[in-house]
Amino acid sequence: MSTATGRLTIDLNAVRANWRRVSAQTPEPPAAVIKADAYGLGADPVGNSLYRAGCREFFLATLEEAIAARRFLPADARLYVLGGARPGEERECMTQGLVPVLYSLPAIDRWARACRFEGRAAPSAVKIDTGMTRLGLSDSEWQQLREDPALLNAAHPILWMSHLACADEYDHPMNRQQQQAFARRCAEVRTLVPDIRCSLANSSGIFLGADWHFDLARTGAALYGYDPHLDRTPAMQPVVQLELPVLQVRELTGEVSIGYGATEQRPAGTRLAVVAGGYADGLNRTIGRQGAKGILGDREVPVVGRISMDTTVFDVTGTALPAEPEQAYVRVLDERLTLSHVTHRSGALGYEVLTSLAGRYRRIYRDQEAHDPS
Ligand SMILES: *Cc1c(COP(=O)(O)O)cnc(C)c1O
Repeated sequence: MSTATGRLTIDLNAVRANWRRVSAQTPEPPAAVIKADAYGLGADPVGNSLYRAGCREFFLATLEEAIAARRFLPADARLYVLGGARPGEERECMTQGLVPVLYSLPAIDRWARACRFEGRAAPSAVKIDTGMTRLGLSDSEWQQLREDPALLNAAHPILWMSHLACADEYDHPMNRQQQQAFARRCAEVRTLVPDIRCSLANSSGIFLGADWHFDLARTGAALYGYDPHLDRTPAMQPVVQLELPVLQVRELTGEVSIGYGATEQRPAGTRLAVVAGGYADGLNRTIGRQGAKGILGDREVPVVGRISMDTTVFDVTGTALPAEPEQAYVRVLDERLTLSHVTHRSGALGYEVLTSLAGRYRRIYRDQEAHDPS
């Protein structure tokens, strides 16, 4: 529709390739985490693409996200809700066939009562805290629950999980501490629920080694091109390409300052390209404020001055442009400027960059399989 917005190209072939690469590490096919609209890349196309690759378990953050996913994913996809079922949401959660992650005794109690009331053995997941101190049963809550196995069983738990705090730091001592604490708790819960599956690792956790795998891994970021441990584990395939259309090219006839705050000057003869895309599109996160650059043709071009709400200025002096410069795009993410490169420079997390991409971009999906009838 509008030409004045950036193009975000999402390579679903690469998402599937990354899922297969992660799967090759783990005993069971890992679950895909598609919360926050698959980190901004589109939970529907990403989820369905992974389903076709063989993925059958998915994690969402909220009940609303999971209800939406229930509609666009096939019925045999198992959908977990990381945010659990809040008081009064139990019935809706059950009716939709969603598996809530329960992380407090009251939540377990409410789920157990709802199961009894509805006469259904609706499955749940139970999350314990092993050191991150976010969501999860504390040690004392777990000791309390151990003394009431009837309550635990009445909540029909099928998955026992915890979350790593420092998995992206390969050598962090906390990784082993949490792994050992979780292994102990798994042995304990299996005396009460013998066939429960256990799940600890996120993307980075998977690449810490087999001790962290347990039964089910939960992978998000790696699917979307985030490298779990730079220089240590295989690089994931880049998934996103972000191109910003040139709105105007201007040739300076004298030294001037550029943008809000007049923070940078350029001399006569400089050529500037003003492109569509600014901080309202997450660019402060995506490309960072310091030393940010893009690629025009095959040359790197630096950002000049401050990023505005809707526009960003690049110095394109000496770079070939088409006869009609408004046909050109400056790429700020691609296979050369990968998520890892960009975050390395900006200090942002790959996660923040991905989830900042939602904005106004036109999403284009590359998907070999969809065009291949075989
Ligand atoms: C978001 C999330 C994940 C996925 O983490 P990645 O690092 O993106 O793989 C896994 N488990 C929980 C509990 C999460 O909240």
